[in-house]
Amino acid sequence: MAACSATVPDKNTSGDNLYEPRVTQEFIDWAWPAYKFKKTEWDEGFGWENVADTDLPLARILNSIWLLNYSAEDYTNEDYNSNALHWACRYVREQINELWARCGDGSAVATTFSDRIELYSLCFYTKDVSGRAETLVHEARHRGGKPHNAKFPAGSTFGAGKNGADANWDYEGAWMYGALYLWWFYADGRRTTTALREAAKQRGNVVIDNAFATHPGFTIV
Ligand SMILES: [Zn+2]
Repeated sequence: MAACSATVPDKNTSGDNLYEPRVTQEFIDWAWPAYKFKKTEWDEGFGWENVADTDLPLARILNSIWLLNYSAEDYTNEDYNSNALHWACRYVREQINELWARCGDGSAVATTFSDRIELYSLCFYTKDVSGRAETLVHEARHRGGKPHNAKFPAGSTFGAGKNGADANWDYEGAWMYGALYLWWFYADGRRTTTALREAAKQRGNVVIDNAFATHPGFTIV
């Protein structure tokens, strides 16, 4: 039984049907400690007992971790001098301390605390596979010392005037890191589909248009 009441969106559109067969036991055995999953936070309905069930949070985030690690053409290159397709997987691994799943109260996609990152239903069930990867990159950037430092601009779909925005692109905050990842996934993501890349572009532009107090002045085209 699932822990959270959620409608599971179409798994072809979300990419879960494409990525799930790639998540082998060997991959899980590597990713589990690398991304600091805490077992007691992923069992009892979150997927630990049914790791291939993409109705459940664990399989859905494992799909995103696979995407995060294997979307660069030469994915063994994790150099920070390469583009984000290469280093984002490493950045998340280096920043994350514990990874927890929660249903959440519907107000946030995820939250970074001093001792853990919590992912919520909004992450698991409203975002596609690359969008969940964006969330991991975003939260990892908070761990890396970049809290949000501004209010959302007028007209923002994230809540105009509320705290939670980044001042600008050059702050290199969580929104910038997430958008940058989606941008590269759109531009050069491998082992995926044109439709998923297009969706990443759209999501990236939602972030660019709504999450910065001062608009970056460009969009992904
Ligand atoms: Zn944030």
